[in-house]
Amino acid sequence: MEKKHSAKVAWQDICLPKAEGGLGLRDFVTWNKAMNLRLLWLLLVGTNSMWIAWNAEHRLKRTNVSATEVQSNSSWIWKNIMALRPTAKDLTACELRDGERASFWYDTWTSHGPPIDYVGTEGPRKLGIPITAIVAEAIRTDQWSLPLARTKCPALQNLRLTLISTHIPLPSRGSDCFKWGPPFARTPRFSTKITWEHMRPTATKPSWAKVVWFKGHVPKHAFTFWTANLNRLPARARLVTWGMNISPLCCLCNQQLETRDHLFLHCEYSEQL
Ligand SMILES: [Zn+2]
Repeated sequence: MEKKHSAKVAWQDICLPKAEGGLGLRDFVTWNKAMNLRLLWLLLVGTNSMWIAWNAEHRLKRTNVSATEVQSNSSWIWKNIMALRPTAKDLTACELRDGERASFWYDTWTSHGPPIDYVGTEGPRKLGIPITAIVAEAIRTDQWSLPLARTKCPALQNLRLTLISTHIPLPSRGSDCFKWGPPFARTPRFSTKITWEHMRPTATKPSWAKVVWFKGHVPKHAFTFWTANLNRLPARARLVTWGMNISPLCCLCNQQLETRDHLFLHCEYSEQL
């Protein structure tokens, strides 16, 4: 006889924290992405690691991570890491100090994100600031090299206003500081916890979670109760929909369909127990 297993609860629901109705398992695809984002962060800020140094030299060729084109013959892992760049961009910002590390076009050092994103690839030519420039290179005689005030391009007007309201970088302010995390929760170091929380699937907290996973719960009972709350108990009416050749009627009263609500709430036989 062919043995067929059906999942009671979808994997993505199981991977939610217990407080959000899951079993608290980690979804490894998401976890792997969070780990790969750490490598992107290290490529951005630099580290003593041989792997980072080799890739910075040979793959990035000292260009900005965001600007690097991924070659079709690049390794699978490199393509996967580079595919996470849009996510990394949302999680990275640079606190501008001396302007010697932040890329003028590619890093998020203003509140509007990387200038290349809103000015466009014509930006470097229009503004006369090379695509490879660091922010300090946008300073001429102690002032921002601004787009012309009469410019009709809305993006350049926007950049002009942004630069006017931004302090110019100064060596006395120390080194530019890259930060990681969602806006309002950024820290100068990579945090696996913050990254995982940002990446993982979330759900609203069900009212029953605390009743199921209370301190001192019996695992077997808690699991059954958890399954019941999700309405995924293998009651007969459900087993029949899975293709099992059995009666869908209640095993206690044998009169109505055996569903969770019937067993726990409406069955006359179980009411008497
Ligand atoms: Zn019944």
